Amino acid sequence: MHAAPEKTMTAISTHDRFGPFGGRYVPETLIPALDELDSAFDSAMADAEFVRTVDEMLSTYVGRPSPLSDAPRLSEQVGTSVFLKREDLNHTGAHKINNTVGQALLAMRMGKRRIIAETGAGQHGVATATVCARFGLDCTVYMGEEDIRRQSLNVYRMKLMGAKVVPVSSGTKTLKDATSEAIRDWVTNVNDSYYIIGSVVGPAPYPRMVREFQSVIGREAREQMLNRTGKLPTAVVACVGGGSNAMGIFHPFEDDRDVKLIGVEAAGHGLESGEHSASLLRGKPGVLHGTLSYLLQDGDGQVHPAHSISAGLDYPGVGPEHAWLKDSGRAEYVAVTDEDALRGFATLSRLEGIIPALETSHAIAWVIDNASRWIKSDSVLICVSGRGDKDMAQIAEMGFLDR
Ligand SMILES: *Cc1c(COP(=O)(O)O)cnc(C)c1O
Repeated sequence: MHAAPEKTMTAISTHDRFGPFGGRYVPETLIPALDELDSAFDSAMADAEFVRTVDEMLSTYVGRPSPLSDAPRLSEQVGTSVFLKREDLNHTGAHKINNTVGQALLAMRMGKRRIIAETGAGQHGVATATVCARFGLDCTVYMGEEDIRRQSLNVYRMKLMGAKVVPVSSGTKTLKDATSEAIRDWVTNVNDSYYIIGSVVGPAPYPRMVREFQSVIGREAREQMLNRTGKLPTAVVACVGGGSNAMGIFHPFEDDRDVKLIGVEAAGHGLESGEHSASLLRGKPGVLHGTLSYLLQDGDGQVHPAHSISAGLDYPGVGPEHAWLKDSGRAEYVAVTDEDALRGFATLSRLEGIIPALETSHAIAWVIDNASRWIKSDSVLICVSGRGDKDMAQIAEMGFLDR
């Protein structure tokens, strides 16, 4: 049960912050809508009927619980027991649908039937279009023109399921600009529209809300590990873009102080190259999309464009709770280059017959390259955030198999 949210004049209560991070840095007009969302979320989560409806959708539509697979050949290579939490087996192929199911049900509970979303590579857009089709909701997805060009198949999928895809031509024509445009739409149409954000980012209560909807990953995985091995894992490893699959698998382990939590950012062409997405390792605190967190910035404090081979990690910010997990020392953050992620991609495919998303491949590669950290009796739990089908065209174009 959740306590009733504390109402204060400032509209910023302590549960809006993670240490100093998070909060609401938004136009005044959005504050009442965020307040409404905050109390609607808390009352929904305290309502057994709502929670049961979410669980039922996750089971009958998404296919949960997702399996925990052992990985015998990878384990042999790493020299410890590796377990894979299979979010790649969800409907639509990644963890993102856990969140869109929860938020779409919340939108309907709030009486809102027009949905807005932003998307980068199109994965969150597809997950949103999917649940909107299922519930008969009106769906508008903002997407940068550059991303529309690079991810035409996902645009096709969204349209097929009845979503309207709005091209965004401002800035770098990518995720950051699409998010700004989605927020603009929400400010204008806040009375009848619900904004489904795709990661643990944005103004409060989004980071906490998305974390809660994604925590099903960690709750299942924790129980599956206990059932399978009789103990908790030595370490939990997940890739970090905005940070939702990582928060989802980390959160239920946070009070298990002996379990190491390791988030893997995208080092792109290398941390020293300036072309990466390592907000936590190379960013500084700053405000983007309504929240205070680590942010890639240039010398003038302007947002520095991110780079990663995987579109899902290509975001200059990161969820505020990760900023706090880093500063408080509860989680450790590391980074893996494009090149190394490709090796991780190939290794899991060859050793286990599981083709991971390029995002996930960062987490795989880090575990392989840090084999010396583990002893045989350890166990390492990796979140397989998604499947690699969406990346096959990009991989084939690179002539990957011929190298
Ligand atoms: C979007 C995406 C990510 C990155 O998003 P997070 O919010 O950091 O989880 C990771 N993996 C896959 C497969 C994705 O689609």
